Amino acid sequence: MISVEEAFEKILSHVEVLEPERKPILNCLGQVLAEDVYSTIDIPPLDNSAMDGYALRAEDTRGAGETSPRYLAVVGEVAAGSMPTKEVRPGTAIRIMTGAPLPEGADAVVRFEDTDEVNRKSARGDLSQIGILCQAKKELNVRGRGEDIAKGNLILKKGKVLRPQEIGVLASLGRSTALVIRRPIVAILATGDELVGVDQPLAPSKIHDSNNYTIAAEVSRYGGIPKILGIGRDSVQSLTEKIDEGLDADMLITSGGVSKGDYDIVKDVLAEHGEVGFWTVCMKPGKPLAFGVMKKVEGGRKGKVPHLGLPGNPVSSMITFEQFARPAILKMLGKKILAKPAIRAIIEDDVVDTDGRRLFARVNVTKRGGQYYASVTGPQGSGILTSMARANGLAVIPESSKGVKAGDMVEVQMLDWGEEQGEVKTLPIVSIVGKSQSGKTMLMEQLIAEFKRRGYKVAALKHSHGGMEIDHPGKDSWRFAQAGSDAVFVSSPDKLAFIKNLNHDLNIEEIMPIVGPEFDLILAEGFRKSKIPKIEVHRKELGDDLLCSPEELSAIVTDGSLDTDRAQLPWGDTVAVADFIEKNFVLKARTVPSTPRGKKVK
Ligand code: AMP
Ligand code: MG
Repeated sequence: MISVEEAFEKILSHVEVLEPERKPILNCLGQVLAEDVYSTIDIPPLDNSAMDGYALRAEDTRGAGETSPRYLAVVGEVAAGSMPTKEVRPGTAIRIMTGAPLPEGADAVVRFEDTDEVNRKSARGDLSQIGILCQAKKELNVRGRGEDIAKGNLILKKGKVLRPQEIGVLASLGRSTALVIRRPIVAILATGDELVGVDQPLAPSKIHDSNNYTIAAEVSRYGGIPKILGIGRDSVQSLTEKIDEGLDADMLITSGGVSKGDYDIVKDVLAEHGEVGFWTVCMKPGKPLAFGVMKKVEGGRKGKVPHLGLPGNPVSSMITFEQFARPAILKMLGKKILAKPAIRAIIEDDVVDTDGRRLFARVNVTKRGGQYYASVTGPQGSGILTSMARANGLAVIPESSKGVKAGDMVEVQMLDWGEEQGEVKTLPIVSIVGKSQSGKTMLMEQLIAEFKRRGYKVAALKHSHGGMEIDHPGKDSWRFAQAGSDAVFVSSPDKLAFIKNLNHDLNIEEIMPIVGPEFDLILAEGFRKSKIPKIEVHRKELGDDLLCSPEELSAIVTDGSLDTDRAQLPWGDTVAVADFIEKNFVLKARTVPSTPRGKKVK
C-alpha cells in the first residue's frame, strides 16, 4: 500500500507544464501568463480630474469656507475625451468633468458640492463666476499621469493566473492577445460491459455511464479540455481501439477495470502501450488506482501520455480525480498552487475509520458565528453519488486515527472554492501546557517576544480560573455588569476589552471566532483538555511523568530527556521552541494545510 502523498508525487513527476500559445485575452481566463507584460503607455495618460467640479489653483482658495466663499471667474469647460483649450490663470477656474485632462495652470479640482453652483443655477444666476466653499490643497481630486501604470514598468509577471482584473489590465494596456500556457486535452474513457450511454434504454443488468460525464465536467472545471472517447468494453479489442484514439491527448483518464477481478484486461492493453503500475493507495474511497505512461502516436506533440486509471465506483473516481487528476491538470496549466483549498471545521457527526486508510468523508460545511461546521451527507458507500451531490467538502480523516468524534476539529477540502483560494489562511493555534512551576508562563512571555521580534502578529490566550482581573469592583464597566448587562465592552483609543457573562466555561472552538482572523499565531496557555496542538513544558524536578499523554502533544520542552517518540526541545531555548512552532504551525498555515500539505511545484 502506498500513501496518498507517494501516489501524488509519482503521478506529478510524470506530468510536465505544457507549452505556451498566443490567444485573444477574453479566451485566457484562468490560464497562466507565459510572458512578462510591460507597459508602453502611461495610465492615465495625463493628469485628470477624479470628480465633476472646477479646476483651479489651490492657492486661490485660501481661507475659503461655507460662509466665506472665494469667487473665481469661470473661463471655460472641459469634458472627458476632449483637451482643454484654455489655461487656468490666477483668479479663474474651468468647469471640469470626471476623467477630463487637467487644464494648464490648475493644480486642484473642487467638486460641485463644495461650490455655490447649485444655488446659482436655481437662482438662474450668473455662471460666469463660481463661489468656492472650501479650501483646497494641491492635488485635491487630481489623478496623476501614470499613477495607475507608468510607461516602461513591469505590470504583469510571467506565472500570473489571469483573472477578470488582469484581463482588464491587459485591455487597458491595449493588448488584444496574451501568451499563456495552453490548456491540456484530457482523453476520458469509461470501461465496463454493464455501461450504456445516457440516451440508451436500460436493460435490467445495465446502468447509465455517469463517470464520463463527471470526469469531463471536472476536467473543464479545472481548465482542461475534455475529449470523451466513449465506453470501452471489457475486452482487449474494444479497449485497444478506444485507447488508441486517446493517444494524441495530453493525458488519458480511464475509469473502472482497476479493481481485483477485471483489471487483467486493462493491464494487458495498457502494457502494450507503455508502462503501467497498479497501486493500492492508502485512502478510502479509492484504494485501487492505476498509473502509467503511454507512448504517443507518431506526429504527436510529445512522446508520452500519462494515464490515470481511476476506480469505477462513481464516488471513488471523483475523489481520486480530486486528489490526483486535478493537480496534474493544474501542473500542466503551469499553476503553482496545487493543494485543494481547505479549512478547519468542527465535525458534527462521529466518523469511524478503523482500517487505517485516509478517509475522505463527504460533508456539508456551513459557517455559523465565524466557525465552520461539517456534517456528513448521509450514506458513504462509494457508489452513492448523490451524497457527493449533497456535499460541498471532503473531510480528511487521517489514516493514523480510528476516526473522529462529533466536536473534533477536522481538515476539510472545499469542493467548490475558487482555485486561487488555495492561499486562504487558517489561524494557527498552539497551547503551552505544563504542571504548575514548570515555567510555562515564562515560556509564553519569551515566545510572545520572540514572535514579535520575527514580525508576526500574535494573540495570547489565557484561561483564568480565578475570575477576571479587569473586572474591578467600583469601575464603570463593573457597575454596568452589576446592573445586569450581558456583556460590557470597554473601548479606548488603543485597546478593546470586553467582559461577557457566561453560563459555561468556553472551549477553544467557541473562543477562536471571537479572537478574529487577523493574527498570524495564537499562543494559548492551558486548555489542556482541548484538541488544539499542545506543547508541554516539563522539568525533571517535578517528576518524570507528564501532565498530558505524549500522543496528545506536538512537542515537549524539557530540561531532562524523556523516553518518548515526541519531539523534545531543550528547556530554556526559546529560539528552538519558536523555530518548532514557526515551522510546524505558522508557515504551514500560510498555504492551507491540505493533502498534500501546501504542496508547491517548480
Ligand atoms: P470497476 O472498477 O470496473 O470494478 O467498477 C466498480 C463499480 O463502478 C461497478 O459497480 C461499476 O458498475 C461501477 N462503474 C464503473 N464504471 C462506471 C461508470 N462509467 N459509470 C457509472 N458506474 C460505473
Ligand atoms: Mg468494470
